[in-house]
Amino acid sequence: MIKQKNPLIIITAPSGAGKTTIVQHLINKFHELAFSVSATNRPKREQETDGLDYYFISTEDFKNKIAHQEFLEYEEVYTGRFYGTLKSELERLWADKKCIIFDVEVHGALNIQKAYSESSLSIFIMPPSKEILYERLKNRNTETAQTLKQRMARAEEELTFAPRFNHIIVNDNLQKAFVEAENLVKKFLER
Ligand code: 5GP
Repeated sequence: MIKQKNPLIIITAPSGAGKTTIVQHLINKFHELAFSVSATNRPKREQETDGLDYYFISTEDFKNKIAHQEFLEYEEVYTGRFYGTLKSELERLWADKKCIIFDVEVHGALNIQKAYSESSLSIFIMPPSKEILYERLKNRNTETAQTLKQRMARAEEELTFAPRFNHIIVNDNLQKAFVEAENLVKKFLER
């Protein structure tokens, strides 16, 4: 049972720090949570499902939605690649009495936190080191040499934002990170 009005949990980190795994773990653990499905114009990866992982839309559609102020926040995360949180998504999940959980990069996370500072919990997932982050990104095999370089450059900048969030979890051991995240979420949901 959720006590607060319009609660949300923001999980953020550079890509490759393990935030998606942690978000999935939390969703499986707490039935009060519902994932905020973002819109993006990036191509769908093979294992992804439209409407579950993202709303995969065209660049034109994305720009129309920007023009009509349909986003709570959006970012051009990589050149030409847009990602954003639709206001309609929040309304849909809150109407369902859910606590919304976000998997977003740091700039979007800061904007969501600012818009909902009273009813949000924000957690920054810190990779143990830049070298390990690089290895994880490389091993995902979803990146070309070019995008890997872009992602690393962005990650280095993103790491400097960690202190702006409510909590930092260092993901040097996934099981330990799960437990830390669970404890924070449990406490937040009981508020
Ligand atoms: P990927 O392409 O690996 O799925 O995501 C790239 C980055 O975009 C990740 O850091 C992811 O968390 C972030 N992201 C996904 N959805 C959103 C969103 O709605 N807004 C913002 N600002 N970032 C997002």
